[in-house]
Amino acid sequence: MTNSEPSEFTTRASSINRALDQIGDKWCLLIIQEVLWGINSFNDMMAAMGVSRGVLSNRLRWLQEVDCLRKEEGGAEGGRRPRYHLTAKSIELYDSAMMAVAWEREWFHNPQLDRVQLVHAGCGKPFVAQMRCDSCDGLVYMEDVGYSPGPGATRDVREKKVRRRSSIAITEVPSERALYLNLINIVGDRWTSNVIALSYHGLTRFDQFHSELPVATNILSDRLKLLVEEGIFEQVAYQQRPMRYEYHLTDKGRGLFPWFITLLQWGDKWCDPEGRGRPMELTHTPCGGPLHAQVRCSECQGVLKAHEVHFTLDGENIGPTREDPGQN
Ligand SMILES: [Zn+2]
Ligand SMILES: [Zn+2]
Repeated sequence: MTNSEPSEFTTRASSINRALDQIGDKWCLLIIQEVLWGINSFNDMMAAMGVSRGVLSNRLRWLQEVDCLRKEEGGAEGGRRPRYHLTAKSIELYDSAMMAVAWEREWFHNPQLDRVQLVHAGCGKPFVAQMRCDSCDGLVYMEDVGYSPGPGATRDVREKKVRRRSSIAITEVPSERALYLNLINIVGDRWTSNVIALSYHGLTRFDQFHSELPVATNILSDRLKLLVEEGIFEQVAYQQRPMRYEYHLTDKGRGLFPWFITLLQWGDKWCDPEGRGRPMELTHTPCGGPLHAQVRCSECQGVLKAHEVHFTLDGENIGPTREDPGQN
């Protein structure tokens, strides 16, 4: 990078962007997933993720900096290695994890992972996570959400480079707990996920995306192309000479909407350092109420809590062990 190239840029304040700037990275998302499963020493993570020592150290440091991991030093006798635990902040990414699993299962088939069943202790049944409106209990769909500026509707100055890049394809990760690798592979790059988030506001053209996300044009083209290849967008020609395309969300792309809403709600709560309040207010148009989305069980509509969700493989409980920051 040359000195003349600015290292910062400005975008509309958004809780999704803030959340993505903290954890919207393949390795960060994967580390959080592994810790959720009780994999919490450096060596165990390295083995589970097939990640290099340097990248893992870098991300562990970063996740502690943004208060998403807490390091517990080994015992006084020196026999134990340091362990990493989720914090009150990262435990609340559980909703995102539930919606991630639901999307992955709808759009990808992996015979081995499909044998893992999620059972809700509340009703005793295998379930699919669903997003519902707290006021009317209706399912939350992309087209039923209205937006208006909130008290924190300012602009954010953002770093162009947040973390060291790593080119290893995440789909090569060996972990058998990887219940949403395909999702991580797509959203674990903040420009890609920023583009998807913008498309939920109706943006479809290159210039529209570029005015909201002023990154280098080659980076933006590259991400749009990737999203077409991944089946998140389809290209629709709107002009013949020269040929120009709009990028329209597919059903698979719209299916990611609830995941983004969990991230937005998490960002509203945990990524507002100046305490200005929500950058954007969301309304659930079918009931007219403010949208407080909840992640619930498809069978009994109960709100899913981490300690009430069991993962089973052929009927046997396989975890994950629940991390509770208050009990260590
Ligand atoms: Zn509603
Ligand atoms: Zn249930």
